Amino acid sequence: MGYTRSTMKKYLVTILIILVVLVGVILFASQKATAPSSQASQKSTTVKTIRFNKSLYSTTDPASLWVVVNKPHGLSPINYAPTDLVTPNVPLRVAGNESMQLRAAPAAALESMFSAAKQAGLQLMVASGYRSYDYQVKLYGDYVKASGQAAADTYSARPGHSEHQTGLAVDVEPIGKNCELDQCFGDTAEGKWVATNSYRYGFIVRYTPADQAITGYEAEPWHLRYVGASLAGEMHTKGITTLEQFFGVSGGPNY
Ligand SMILES: [Zn+2]
Repeated sequence: MGYTRSTMKKYLVTILIILVVLVGVILFASQKATAPSSQASQKSTTVKTIRFNKSLYSTTDPASLWVVVNKPHGLSPINYAPTDLVTPNVPLRVAGNESMQLRAAPAAALESMFSAAKQAGLQLMVASGYRSYDYQVKLYGDYVKASGQAAADTYSARPGHSEHQTGLAVDVEPIGKNCELDQCFGDTAEGKWVATNSYRYGFIVRYTPADQAITGYEAEPWHLRYVGASLAGEMHTKGITTLEQFFGVSGGPNY
């Protein structure tokens, strides 16, 4: 019996040692397993807090999606013309006209936006897109003749200072309603939808009522400027409504 007892003791001690070692190994392994996941969560926090890179694209190159065009900042060269103009596949005010064109990126974004608006029961069309330097010379000249330069300057850009010349700006209007290129567009269901949703497609409403002193223009709820979804989203998140404020570029009513 004595022999058996001591053998059993030896067995028990051995089992105890094995258990202690096992528990040790399990604890060690579980610590190792949790280590990478805590690193991963730190990493994702870091990604979230990375600041928006405001220098990613030029604000002066006329071909840049972020170019700031206003009264003190004209296009350089003054007669710049984009090279990737296309006619978006959406309802147009005048089919086959040069002014229905946009650059490729805003044209595709506009197609997506108009189709989303349609799903919401709202019909939009392009009133005016790209305007060449020569066209703006004529348009502005006609406005000056009609109402004088001071008045014309409040609602029309001088040649070389129009966002429409970049191919990134588009005037939109509702189909079959009044309020074409009129303040009342902002009160229509279409105007409200555009004001709320256009940022999702990379557009901003460029001339808002509150920002007239900064943009140098009367409010134009129909005038959308394509800046790409990342910038439009960032401006929306930050509650910044003008490119001038976002990039710290001067604006205002004077050339
Ligand atoms: Zn416009």
